[in-house]
Amino acid sequence: MHLTLVEPQASQSTTILRPTAGRAFAIDGKEAAQRVQAELTAAAAALTAAGTKPGVAVVLVGADPASQVYVKSKGKAALACGFHSVQHDLPEATTQAELLDLVDRLNADPSIHGILVQLPLPVGIDATQVLERIAPEKDVDGFHPINVGLLGIGDLERALVPCTPAGCMMLLDKAAAALGLALDGREAVVVGRSNIVGKPIAQLLLGRNATVTIAHSRSADLPALIGRADILIAAVGRPEMIRGAWIKPGALVIDVGINRLPAEGFTASGAPKTRLVGDVAYAEALERAAAITPVPGGVGPMTIAMLMANTLRAAHRSAGLPPPALFR
Ligand code: NAP
Repeated sequence: MHLTLVEPQASQSTTILRPTAGRAFAIDGKEAAQRVQAELTAAAAALTAAGTKPGVAVVLVGADPASQVYVKSKGKAALACGFHSVQHDLPEATTQAELLDLVDRLNADPSIHGILVQLPLPVGIDATQVLERIAPEKDVDGFHPINVGLLGIGDLERALVPCTPAGCMMLLDKAAAALGLALDGREAVVVGRSNIVGKPIAQLLLGRNATVTIAHSRSADLPALIGRADILIAAVGRPEMIRGAWIKPGALVIDVGINRLPAEGFTASGAPKTRLVGDVAYAEALERAAAITPVPGGVGPMTIAMLMANTLRAAHRSAGLPPPALFR
């Protein structure tokens, strides 16, 4: 079955779809994330007025520059939403016992509803043990086996779902709604089977009654599998591996991949320039897909927004209140 394409409409300005030079719309993740943040801010104010201020704790061990940037942007996003936000910076030499002790204290702290331990942790720290020590109801990354299991049995009322997959679903929903399409009964192909992206996205799509295929590095004839996909999720980590000609005409494409390639020229500080590309050959895909997320500006901005959404969810649950509809 082919998705029915909808021609660009003036009303599209109220959606997150943007016309492109090609046939497809671009799915504007930045705009979607800003809208989520506005809703989070309003919901956090209401919950705070009802006596529970959503609170998040971010834990950074060591001084990895990329991790420092991520942690800073998480804290900034939390404050922008009106959350209580604390950051714990621990030295590289922190022991397993010290880190577990901090997690225990955060688990017991009623002002904290979400705990984020930034990965990767320094060599010598057992990350699995640390992540499993986080109380499942505060595990806003959604990596604890309890949350993985709840997602597996489709219990989204209790699960905290990993943020990138949750962001992908929100973009997919919004794009499908703007195009007048239903996900129900569609063929979905997820390329990638990681625990943090591929598998949880597949579970979410299954929960939405899509017919889901998960492809990976051992899959035979990837172009043929992809050619069946009304919904294509690329989560591989290989620059522009998925060619436009493989894509089914009219497909919805979510490109999770973030790959850095060398670019022409040098920055002001003299470093060689780089550029980001996704797992899908974007310019080619624009001629085939109905809508596609660009890289950058697609899935990326949604991830932190969904971390905050999980914190809001956790705060509502701790107060015994239902989260607002968008965040249920
Ligand atoms: P990962 O753990 O490395 O998993 C990659 C998956 O791709 C694996 O399942 C692997 O198969 C599969 N794969 C590798 N080569 C393949 C090939 N030639 N054909 C088919 N499948 C192949 O990566 P990840 O953590 O899921 O991340 C995937 C991408 O998403 C990366 O670019 C990452 O940077 C990006 N990402 C973006 C965000 C965001 O916020 N936008 C968040 C997380 C990740 P096997 O299992 O068989 O090895």
